[in-house]
Amino acid sequence: MSRVREQLARKNRIVIKIGSSSLVHSDTGRLDYVKLEKLVRFLCDLRNQGKDVILVSSGAIGVGAMTLGLVNRPKTTSLKQACAAVGQGQLMMTYQKLFSEYHQTSAQVLLTFDVITSEERRRNAINTFNELLQIGIIPVVNENDTVATEEIEFGDNDTLSAIVVALVKADCLVIMSDIDGLYTDDPHFDPNASLISEVPEITEELWTMAKGTATSLGTGGMTTKLKAASIATAVGADMAILNGERIEILPELFQGDDVGTVFHAHPELHFQLEEYVKKLEM
Ligand code: GLU
Repeated sequence: MSRVREQLARKNRIVIKIGSSSLVHSDTGRLDYVKLEKLVRFLCDLRNQGKDVILVSSGAIGVGAMTLGLVNRPKTTSLKQACAAVGQGQLMMTYQKLFSEYHQTSAQVLLTFDVITSEERRRNAINTFNELLQIGIIPVVNENDTVATEEIEFGDNDTLSAIVVALVKADCLVIMSDIDGLYTDDPHFDPNASLISEVPEITEELWTMAKGTATSLGTGGMTTKLKAASIATAVGADMAILNGERIEILPELFQGDDVGTVFHAHPELHFQLEEYVKKLEM
């Protein structure tokens, strides 16, 4: 077992991001309650181990679209926003019910990208997170899709989860997606593509390899995951990409199994969040 994987069990402040496609049944697009229940139970167990836990959950637009009876993912911004407003409430209701079954309290935190550009908003967000975590609450984070037009069109929750890592100074980020991890090439097209287990450093070659492969429900492809990794690792967190098809993969990661792709933290690169995000052209 590598030293970095071995140390995952000792992380204290963990952000877990789950993508839309990992939350729903692929054939109906409706919430997979069995999976959600397993996810929540694992997060509550991390809390019981004394760790701080933050969940970044997508799914608002997808769940809202199902409820409104839409067959395809909405295309116009206003319909996406309407779907997000319906779906976010439903998602949160489900999370709060499940968390309370394991005696944990969760809180909804909706963010927009101005937590990067506005010093005051950043400070407010940091204070709220710190207060919640100190009381022992599990924040459930999403973009505030109703007001964040540009987030719906360009934003993604991979980047958001890395920004949350920077705000709360987490030491670990796990991104649950519909792909096993970072591959040497796009596995949908190249049968010889192989899974990369560990990334000590994000090189130019990796950026070239990470061709956009957006999922059908969410907005993030491999490039957004590399962006997330470059932010999270530079603020001192190790980051893992896991396939969210099986929630059991989460405990496997934290016991050191060779699952997914793990990016090594580089706290020595520590940057000014605002400048760095601009550099990534987000
Ligand atoms: N905020 C969007 C939603 O909840 C998801 C964005 C993403 O998946 O990256 O539907």
